[in-house]
Amino acid sequence: MEQPAYQVALKEAAQILGRSDVELDRLMTPDRIIQADIAIQLDSGETAIFSALRVQHNAARGPYKGGIRFHPQVDVEEVKTLSSLMTWKCAVANIPFGGGKGGVKVDPKKLSPLELERLARGYVQAFVKHIGPNQDVPAPDVNTNEQTMAWMMDEYSRIKGHQMHDFVTGKPVALFGSKGREMATSLGGKFILDLMIDHLQITKRPIQVAIQGLGNVGGGLAKLLSLDPRYKLVAVSDSQGGSYCPTGLEVSEVLAHKQTNGSLAGFPYSHDITNAELLELDVDVLVPAALEEQITSSNAEHIKAKLILELANNPISASGDAILNSRGISVVPDILANAGGVTVSYFEWVQNREGWYWEEGEVNGRLQKLMLEAGQQIIKIADEKKVSLRVAAFLLSLERVDRAMRLRGKLVGRN
Ligand code: NAD
Repeated sequence: MEQPAYQVALKEAAQILGRSDVELDRLMTPDRIIQADIAIQLDSGETAIFSALRVQHNAARGPYKGGIRFHPQVDVEEVKTLSSLMTWKCAVANIPFGGGKGGVKVDPKKLSPLELERLARGYVQAFVKHIGPNQDVPAPDVNTNEQTMAWMMDEYSRIKGHQMHDFVTGKPVALFGSKGREMATSLGGKFILDLMIDHLQITKRPIQVAIQGLGNVGGGLAKLLSLDPRYKLVAVSDSQGGSYCPTGLEVSEVLAHKQTNGSLAGFPYSHDITNAELLELDVDVLVPAALEEQITSSNAEHIKAKLILELANNPISASGDAILNSRGISVVPDILANAGGVTVSYFEWVQNREGWYWEEGEVNGRLQKLMLEAGQQIIKIADEKKVSLRVAAFLLSLERVDRAMRLRGKLVGRN
């Protein structure tokens, strides 16, 4: 695995802010890593044991916040990276949370719904001393969803003996999740995309867009683009490959084709392409919305897009990022581009604590305000300091986290 782009950007931001290696180390090191083995009864009556962890990176600005993933390849280094990204992302969005992330090493496809429910409840039992609405607020991540969050909320409430809606976010709206959460990451990304198109003075119409990954986030952005005549979606892909049509894809038909056929292959009036080919298409905007480490030293020279919007976490390696920067390609970093999800998770937590629920328009309006404030500040810093958008985003977030730590007395020395 190549070094993630965020580590190099964070270091550059720390140097610009005059922070020492020791201080940077303090800001990069997680507060704690908690591990547990979760034993559950299988439907067969046998017992199975799964290793689980929660990484709590930094709580200087508020409770730890971050998803829990169920995946066979859950590994502590990856969860540490993702928990760190959550710290910087919450600080960019200026919401009162720190960063955390959790996972269970399991292939969820091999478990029945009842076994998954026992595992979700087991996770809460194993970590109950360390998580909670004022300590660490979980959310869904890879292979967990609103049903998982409903079970976790119920288990936590059962243990505590009273209703605790604010224990997790990403709950079903019927169980007091927030309206607008499902589309929040895509909508936040669209607000930032519009801002960057204006900032970069891209006047060409329509703006041609390619999206890698047609899941929750990529599919949501595709729908939003189809409602905006300034944009034309020309290519999309999923894990099995993609479709490309230079004159534009009909988004509702693409989504329906994938739903019916299980893949994009054979979508009419388009060419089938591979994921590698999608990344190198001659488009205006490229949106990685699937996996980490998609653009690296091996393909960054061949990227033709003028603007890359990182809706996935960590899709570009440090060496890939350096090549893109040297070629003048603008990259909107993940900690800004996909911060809409955790921002509306924050709104969900606020609504649960108030017991007072907002209409979708109010959620989206507040999301737009926070996303644009963050985007405008990052553009300003990038222009003033002559740095990339990624380094500018880390300058903003590092300064906020660093200040909170000094005010709490957790970092001492120069201010
Ligand atoms: P998802 O599981 O709904 O969708 C993932 C998509 O990627 C699927 O369409 C899948 O087919 C596709 N995919 C998988 N392997 C691929 C490959 N090799 N090439 C191309 N496509 C491939 O997941 P999601 O919730 O949409 O999340 C996507 C990314 O966005 C992840 O990196 C996630 O961490 C990040 N993210 C999600 C949210 C959120 O609110 N869901 C918030 C912030 C960041």
